[in-house]
This record gives sequence, structure tokens and C-alpha cells, in this order.
Amino acid sequence: SDRIEMFGIEIDSLRMTGAVDRLMTWLNSETEATCRFVVTPNVDHTVLLQTSAPLRDAYADADLVLADGWPVVLASRMFGKSLPERVTGSDLIPALFRAADDSAPLKTFLLGAAPGVAQRAAVNVHKQYPNVQIVGTYSPPLGFENDVEENRQILERIADAQPQLLVIGLGAPKQELWIHKVRHQVAAKVAVCAGATIDFLAG
Ligand code: UDP
Repeated sequence: SDRIEMFGIEIDSLRMTGAVDRLMTWLNSETEATCRFVVTPNVDHTVLLQTSAPLRDAYADADLVLADGWPVVLASRMFGKSLPERVTGSDLIPALFRAADDSAPLKTFLLGAAPGVAQRAAVNVHKQYPNVQIVGTYSPPLGFENDVEENRQILERIADAQPQLLVIGLGAPKQELWIHKVRHQVAAKVAVCAGATIDFLAG
């Protein structure tokens, strides 16, 4: 699809339906590939991006960059380009779950949110989308990103669970920096940096 350059990053010009189609293809692909990842920039991120080279590197490495916020969509119009609509992480995950529920089972791992929250989310997801299997949940301790042993254990939990989809709810920019660093060791087809989505799923 088209990519529009704004704020020093490239944003995919896709609607929700186009993003879901793309992700379903990647999620169900049989070929071995590095874990693909999705970021959803909002205005806060675009401000951070101006001063953070590591975050720009992470964004440049993302396979799909979707405009989370209306201001980003409106800004694209001012530049004479045009993003079709906003696609937030917290809308994208339920849309993917609905698509999976109408087709093939989707094995999903929920990483992040406070202890216990992802387990509650798993119960709700199971009720609402029987075809979505939450194969693992984990809430990393504070400061995990600098702890080599903790990182090894997280990657091992994911590898043991064999998910197709990894939902990362660690907050921005932690989640984007983390997946950029470890994507080659993540045993999933697709990771979505999803902010507070696990909290929303927990209700
Ligand atoms: N979070 C986490 N570990 C951390 C920091 C945040 O699991 O070290 C979780 C937090 O519990 C929440 C989610 O990250 O579920 C999103 O946080 P926030 O709303 O700050 O992120 P944003 O939506 O702004 O990206």
C-alpha cells in the first residue's frame, strides 16, 4: 500500500479493513519469517519521535505503521496527502479477533498490563471470540527491558506458547523499542504494539 511521509516517519495509507486483511495474511502464512510488527503512532509519539533516534529506528523497522489519532489523519490532509481513517491499536485487536472468529483459529499471547489483567482479558476474549485461543499471558516486572535473564524468560514463554499473534501492552515507547530489539527472537508471526488494549479487553 501507499506510505505517506510525515513527522520523519512513513505511515501506511490503509483503512481498518485493509490493515486486518494484511495482518490475517501474515498471521496465517506458513513460511518462516521474522516476526512482523505493527505500530500505531498518535500525536504523543510524533512529538517523542522528534527527539528520540532509537524510537525513529524502531518505527522505520515496523512492517505496518497505522495512524492511531485523528490529529495525525488531519495533519496528513494539511500536507495535501491523505490518510483514509484512523486505525487505533485498541480497535485493531478486536477487529482481528472478529476476523479470526469468522475464519481460522487464532493463537494469541497477551504480554503486558498489570498482574492479573491479561488473565481477565483472556476470559473475556474466550467468551466473545471462541475461535481466538489465548495461549499465554504474562505481565513483566518493572524494568524488565534491562534485565537479560528476564528477557530470556519472556522469549522462552512466547516460544513455548507458539502464538501467531503477540499483543504487546507495555505502553509507548517501551513496547516499540522492545519489539524492535528482540523481533528476530520472537516466535510469533505478528506483534502489535497495542498500548492499553489488554486493559480494555479485561473490561
Ligand atoms: N505497562 C506495562 N509495563 C510497563 C509499563 C506499562 O505492562 O512497564 C502497561 C500498563 O499496565 C498498561 C499499558 O502498558 O496496561 C499501556 O500503558 P499506557 O496507557 O501508559 O500506554 P499508551 O496507551 O499511552 O501507549
